[in-house]
Amino acid sequence: MRSAWVLCPFCQAKTKTKILDDSILLRFPLYCPRCKKEMKVDVIQGIIYFCSQ
Ligand SMILES: [Zn+2]
Repeated sequence: MRSAWVLCPFCQAKTKTKILDDSILLRFPLYCPRCKKEMKVDVIQGIIYFCSQ
């Protein structure tokens, strides 16, 4: 099973969050150390979807 660091949907920086190939995150508060903010994301099959709300 592969794992990968989640990239920030804005600046593509590596975050401190790791996911596996089959991980599913819904409304996950992803923190980006470069943007210095938390954003809500969904991660499904390795693709990161930014949640505007
Ligand atoms: Zn960022």
